[in-house]
Amino acid sequence: MSKSSIPTDWHNCATCRHWTGVAIPNAFCSWVEFDTHDTGKCMGGGFHMCSMPPLSSCRQWEGRW
Ligand code: SF4
Repeated sequence: MSKSSIPTDWHNCATCRHWTGVAIPNAFCSWVEFDTHDTGKCMGGGFHMCSMPPLSSCRQWEGRW
């Protein structure tokens, strides 16, 4: 387990509304914490149904918070 945090306006899977992995926002929804070894399926985005690591990205990113 390796925790990491990035701003929620960074265009990565961990901040994307299509990502189904575990991403926990802070109280202001300005940062999000996740496990760098976790994966989550992209549902309806650029890599639909693929397991994506949290720091991946694509051009169909859409903000979640
Ligand atoms: S692959 Fe693209 S659309 Fe899918 S979760 Fe990642 S950033 Fe979002």
